[in-house]
Amino acid sequence: MIPYGRQDITPADIAAVTAVLESDWLTQGPAVPRFEAALSARCGARHAVAMNSATSALHVACLALDLGPGDLLWTSPITFVASANCARYCGAEVDFVDIDPATLNMSPVALAAKLERARAAGRLPKIVVPVHFGGQSCDMRAIGALAQQYGVRVIEDAAHAIGGRYDGAPIGGGRHADITILSFHPVKIITTGEGGAALTNDPALARRMARLRSHGTTREPAEMAAAPEGLWCYEQLELGYNYRLTDLQAALGLSQLERIDAYLARRAALARRYGARLAALPLSTQRILSECASAWHLYVVCLDRHDRRRVYEGLRAAGIGANVHYIPVHLQPYYRALGFKPGDFPAAERYYRGALTLPLHARLSDAEQDRVIAALEEQLT
Ligand SMILES: *Cc1c(COP(=O)(O)O)cnc(C)c1O
Repeated sequence: MIPYGRQDITPADIAAVTAVLESDWLTQGPAVPRFEAALSARCGARHAVAMNSATSALHVACLALDLGPGDLLWTSPITFVASANCARYCGAEVDFVDIDPATLNMSPVALAAKLERARAAGRLPKIVVPVHFGGQSCDMRAIGALAQQYGVRVIEDAAHAIGGRYDGAPIGGGRHADITILSFHPVKIITTGEGGAALTNDPALARRMARLRSHGTTREPAEMAAAPEGLWCYEQLELGYNYRLTDLQAALGLSQLERIDAYLARRAALARRYGARLAALPLSTQRILSECASAWHLYVVCLDRHDRRRVYEGLRAAGIGANVHYIPVHLQPYYRALGFKPGDFPAAERYYRGALTLPLHARLSDAEQDRVIAALEEQLT
C-alpha cells in the first residue's frame, strides 16, 4: 500500500537520537531549547514552546489566553478534532465557521457575518482558531483584521503548515495571530514521533505556556509569590500539566528541521505534478491563493460526480492508501450530542461528500505517484 503520508528517517536522525540516549538527559534537557530556537528562527517568531503534541500546545495556548467556562472558541469544521477539543478541555463552548469551498479554509466572509450576529446577540467568541488546511495559510489579513475589530484572540492551527509562507513571510511569524501551533506527528512535514510547539512574539504568553507545560511551576525568582528560601525552590503558580517534549524527540526534530527545505521542495514538486496530470479529470483541487506558498501536507481532490466511497475502495484495492480529511468535526457524535447537526455548515459538508486525499509525502517517488494517478484515472473513467 502506498501510504497517504509517512515519515522520512535518515541515519543522521538515528545518530542524533542515539547521542541523546548516551547523554545525561532523556527528558526535557538541553536539546529542547535548541529545538525551540531553531523553530522560532525558521518560523520568524520570537518564542517557541515545544510540547509533547500539538493537541497539548492547543490546550496550553487556550489556557494562556484565559479561555474558561462561559467562553466560546470558534474553529473550522474541516480540521482534526483537536482544533475544537482544546476549548472543551478548558470548559469552554465550541462553534464553527464554515469553509470557503475553493480554498477549503475558514471563510473570512462567513466569519465576518457570524461575528456581526454574535455581537448583536452579545455572545462573541474569546478565541478563533483558523486552520491552515493542507498547508495553505488562511486569509490571515482578513481574519486578523476582524479579530482586532471585534476584540477576539487568534490561535493559528498550523499543524499542516510549518514551512508554508503567507504574504512573503513564513507561517508562524504572528503578524495576524497571538499564538501559532505546530505538529510533529509522523505524517506531518517534520516529525518528533509525537510532538508539537506553540509560537508567539509575546514574552508573557511564552512564559505562561512554558509554565503550564510543566505543572504550572516556575524556578524564576521574579515570578515567585515569595522570595525563595534557597536554590532548591520552585513554586506552583497555577494548575498545569506534564506536556514536556523529551530530549530524544527534540534531537530528532532538530535533525529533521535541517532537511525541511528539501521536504517542502519535494512536496511542492509532487503537488505541481498532480495538478498538471489531474487537470482533465472530473474533480476539483484546492485553490492556492497568490499570496500563499503551501507546505503541502495534504493533496486533496473533490470528486465532482463519482461516488467517493466506491473510488476510495477502488484505490485501496489497487494498493493506493487514499484517505479522507476530514469528517466535519460538528458531525462527530460527541459534537452532535452538544447540539450540532447535518446542515449546520453546508460548504464543509458538501466538500466532505466528495473529498479524497491522495498520497503525498517526501519519499513518494515519481513512479509511485504515476501509479496513484493511473489508478485514479481508472476509477474515474
Ligand atoms: C495533527 C493535527 C493536530 C494535532 O496534532 P498532534 O500533534 O497529533 O496532537 C491538530 N490540528 C490539526 C489540523 C492537525 O492536523
